[in-house]
Amino acid sequence: MKYTFSGGYHPPDGKSYSEKMPIEKMPSPKIAAIHLHQHIGAPSKAIVNIGDEVKVGQPISEAGGFVSAPVHASVSGKVKAIAKIADAAGNKTDAVIIESDGRDELFPGVGEKSDYSQFTADEIKKKIAASGITGMGGARFPTHVKLSPPAEKKINHIILNGVECEPYLTADDRLMQESPDTIIEGLKLMMKVTGAEKGIIGIEKNKPESIRIMKEKTASMHDIKVIDLEVKYPQGGEKQLISAAIGKEVPSGGLPMDVGVVVSNVGTANAVYEAVALNKPYYERVVSVTGESITNPKNLLVRIGTPTSELIEYCGGVKEDVYKVVNGGPMMGAAMYSMEAPVHKGTSGILCLSKENAAVYEEQPCISCGKCVSVCPLRLVPTEIQMNVQFKKYEEAEKLGILDCMLCGTCAYVCPAKRNLVHYFNIGKAKIAEMKRKK
Ligand code: SF4
Ligand code: SF4
Repeated sequence: MKYTFSGGYHPPDGKSYSEKMPIEKMPSPKIAAIHLHQHIGAPSKAIVNIGDEVKVGQPISEAGGFVSAPVHASVSGKVKAIAKIADAAGNKTDAVIIESDGRDELFPGVGEKSDYSQFTADEIKKKIAASGITGMGGARFPTHVKLSPPAEKKINHIILNGVECEPYLTADDRLMQESPDTIIEGLKLMMKVTGAEKGIIGIEKNKPESIRIMKEKTASMHDIKVIDLEVKYPQGGEKQLISAAIGKEVPSGGLPMDVGVVVSNVGTANAVYEAVALNKPYYERVVSVTGESITNPKNLLVRIGTPTSELIEYCGGVKEDVYKVVNGGPMMGAAMYSMEAPVHKGTSGILCLSKENAAVYEEQPCISCGKCVSVCPLRLVPTEIQMNVQFKKYEEAEKLGILDCMLCGTCAYVCPAKRNLVHYFNIGKAKIAEMKRKK
């Protein structure tokens, strides 16, 4: 059986730079700048003061609401400041800045094993919430919220996203090869929380070793299945993955829970296991530092709050031909505003590109070729949406489904006129949100 979705495109995957590099633990930084708002939802609120001594894994903020998540110290040391620090996109938001004492002392209880098989669903969910886990695939939605659908939405499937369809990135691929058992345990915990009877792990066929290992590990599990998906971008989009895995379509404006599904990244499942079984909050993650313009591509286990410049330096620095450094993958990532921006919970990759691969083009007039329409996985008409945004007809753009657009960039990638479609979609979405707020 062919597992895939309609539309999409297969760009060159660029994974060879780092796919064979085992995950390496990077030394903790001397200064960690930990943003209070690293997730979708309300910013968290600091619970430490300047001058406080903190330890690794200690909560330094509390959730600012139900859709929110706390953050934790990623080094031990002293709180030096609470100040506005620029993130990768250049937006300045509050961060707790900790000067490390170099000792990496753990907060009491962090790392202690529990007999988690005895935990109730509610206890597991509370652990996940307290550990500050957010989606690691990029969307950064607090995981405990995802696992709390309204009572009328019965969840039948948890689908783990091991697709990693963004070119170049290899962090999830390495994690599946190196920590398959903990990912599977995390999946089982999520099944227990939601009452889902089935677990599916979706992996693209360009990760044969991950598929082999995961299939071997789950061979005797009647409720968990591994599926090998066709290689096509954006196969890792939630709606595309659900369509490929179980053949159900999430309705326009709907959510996976509308078809009885919760989708979660494999890294998130690993973090869930660590939180519940090892009492380890989410204070470090795997980041691919890759691309043709980094000297030594690597997959690194990095403390949240580490400046990007330190990751680059640890990988031997950028090559002379570097043109652009991207936070994330080339399709959905964004050029970095500053190399001092700290790693946050959603940082999956730091991509160093030469001019040849940095997609620098001059926009030309649309030639109405229709290529953008043929590849859109949501069957939207990108060229019409773009025109409406350009001429400030936001209500028309909304009728054409701009709010469903997941900004995957497939349409812009194939456009021969190099129309900057995603740029217009971002503007249109922001304007519509502003109009709704005013109403
Ligand atoms: S960016 Fe939006 S319009 Fe373009 S292909 Fe992706 S979902 Fe469709
Ligand atoms: S792919 Fe580009 S040129 Fe072709 S119709 Fe779409 S926007 Fe126009």
